[in-house]
Amino acid sequence: MKMKAYHFGYQGHKPEDLLLAVEALGAVLCDIRYAPYSRQPGWSKKALVAMFGAAYRHIPELGNLNYKGEYGAGIRIADLDGGLETVFKILERRPVVVMCVCREFETCHRLTVAEALQELGVYADGLDLTMHATIAETRVLNQQLGLFRNEK
Ligand SMILES: [Zn+2]
Repeated sequence: MKMKAYHFGYQGHKPEDLLLAVEALGAVLCDIRYAPYSRQPGWSKKALVAMFGAAYRHIPELGNLNYKGEYGAGIRIADLDGGLETVFKILERRPVVVMCVCREFETCHRLTVAEALQELGVYADGLDLTMHATIAETRVLNQQLGLFRNEK
């Protein structure tokens, strides 16, 4: 199976829309925030565990130790190799969605993680919620119409 990864910044999005996309892809949501808390409803680790169940994993090893900027400029991944090992165990069975809060990919530490994945042969696309939500909704609609049953 070809390993597939996506990256996603949740700012401005709703967790239920992300859930639709993650389910459509059969993926595991990998939360790479060092501190998985949020003032935005639904985006704390606790809320995501409740909503995503086994399709959610917090991977603090891929968090940015410098997320508050206390070490000056730049990104410090807590334990890149250790975190990637966890991600590859998941990638053997399922696609992964690497998630942080930041809207901008270019300045977020998920770019560092995506580059590391690419060096290991796994390309990470930006997750397009509108596209994947459409796939999920179409699948549900088809099931409701009984089209899959008629195909037999
Ligand atoms: Zn970020």
